[in-house]
Amino acid sequence: MPRLTATRVAHSTVLLDFDGQCVLTDPWYSEKPGYYHGEPYGIALADLPQLCGVVASHGHYDHYDLESFAAFPDRSVPFAVKTGMAKQAHDHGFGTVTELEPWQSVQLGDVRVTAAPGAHSVPENCYVLEYGATTVFFGGDSLFIPALREVADRFPRIDLALVPVNGLKIRPLLNRKVVMTAEDAADLCAVLRPTVAVPMHYAFTAGQLRDRLLLAYDGTPQRFATAASERAPSTLVKILAPGEPLVF
Ligand SMILES: [Zn+2]
Repeated sequence: MPRLTATRVAHSTVLLDFDGQCVLTDPWYSEKPGYYHGEPYGIALADLPQLCGVVASHGHYDHYDLESFAAFPDRSVPFAVKTGMAKQAHDHGFGTVTELEPWQSVQLGDVRVTAAPGAHSVPENCYVLEYGATTVFFGGDSLFIPALREVADRFPRIDLALVPVNGLKIRPLLNRKVVMTAEDAADLCAVLRPTVAVPMHYAFTAGQLRDRLLLAYDGTPQRFATAASERAPSTLVKILAPGEPLVF
């Protein structure tokens, strides 16, 4: 029986270990002014296992930090990315990169990765990862858009959904929401009906001043758990500390 262990590294970086076939999502392994994890790394970059692949939702620094990930020893590790993101990987020495649009798939080792719709302030994919009968949905830092409902039609049985919950708004863009809120994430779970949902993308801080002037966000994992218990009662919510493994 295939097994899955999911470990949150930080933010939207998650290690998915499908029976030793390991995929890392949205690598972010450094900080700079305006971009702080707000939580420790659950797994240090140097302690990552051998990977059969990396999936990246969009090209923002805090989800696609190739400058730091270039320290990963295996430059042959294949990537699955949104259209337009391959060049940056190539520039950092990663030669095997597949750009995907929604419903296109690529095989990373024994894990099948299918892009799903996403929406953010830049082009974004969500992803569905399948290994044997085990299926994982990865929500990057997307908004909840109607197009995501099709995921449930195509993948009726989802074991684990990784969902962003901080509801980030960019103040200079007229307070425009660019990430789903905790309640949106609960509504998404009501559609996808995953067995387990793990919230992510909530500890980030841009620093006190930038947080106050430029951003607004208020989603917490607890708020997601409360919303999901009302709106998606068939889904079990697991809040994972960085590095805490969730074993299926
Ligand atoms: Zn982003």
